[in-house]
Amino acid sequence: MRLQRRLASLAITGLLLSTLPISAASAASTPDYPGQASMQVGVENQAVKKMQQALIELGYSISVANGKYGPQTTEAVRRFYADNDDSDDGTSLGPIGWREIFAALADQRAAEAAEKEFQDAPEVPIDPNEPVDPNAQAPQTTVANGGVPEKQRGKQPARGASSRSLPYVMPVTGQISAVYNQKGRRWSSRRHTGIDIRAPRGTKIKAVVEGEVIFAARKPAYGRVVVLQHADGTTSWYAHMSKIIAKKGRYLTPGDEIGLVGSSGRSSGSHLHFEVKSSSDKSMNPVTWLQDRAWKVTPVESATN
Ligand SMILES: [Zn+2]
Repeated sequence: MRLQRRLASLAITGLLLSTLPISAASAASTPDYPGQASMQVGVENQAVKKMQQALIELGYSISVANGKYGPQTTEAVRRFYADNDDSDDGTSLGPIGWREIFAALADQRAAEAAEKEFQDAPEVPIDPNEPVDPNAQAPQTTVANGGVPEKQRGKQPARGASSRSLPYVMPVTGQISAVYNQKGRRWSSRRHTGIDIRAPRGTKIKAVVEGEVIFAARKPAYGRVVVLQHADGTTSWYAHMSKIIAKKGRYLTPGDEIGLVGSSGRSSGSHLHFEVKSSSDKSMNPVTWLQDRAWKVTPVESATN
């Protein structure tokens, strides 16, 4: 309990957040659906070409947008459906699939614009006494008995730090692209309510603290999100996923799969937004929360001379 109180006292408080990350870019408009007869294998028209261009921009493998609905386009549509939790053979595209493709394109463009804005924005330190250096790596630390080194208690991982160099396990391996309470124009509150871990779309996200799945569906802004309820009343939120794997009502233990990394909802690129809320629904510093509760990395043996 003493440790818990100490960690809590080190958490960055003062500015509690209730708003969500928001993208600065405006959404691209969805063209009108041309009708099922125009969107099936064997046809050739401008609407197919438009869809092919969108799928190519989204990273699906179509060599050229030629307007012909052939085998490559069929496979790309099938994969798009699969990535969005739907199974379909891809031989035709209905109005919902059409909308989903252009919504995904709008999401991606917004994410890219937000990412650019983020990169162009001046660096803002989290705490005047602990400036965040975006090029700094978190110190490589030997952790005995799964404990948190004194020096790192209550500290945010530096941006660019990977979970491999942290004393606790993160829900996904990747770079921290935004820390808790970070200032930025891309958040409506100008402050970030969680931590962002950048990882390729489709990367598996794992539970790091045991808890019951109390929500596993879409929410505005969060996109596909899984919420775990923990014994102490706190909740952890895993957001912007491309696919939800965890089922509502299940009890997860560390290492269980939550879902796949994506960019659903209002998102700044393919990443996991990991957020923690107190029992009174206030956002907390996920780093101090993780340090106290998360599955720890295997202790590293010190090198001997
Ligand atoms: Zn975020």
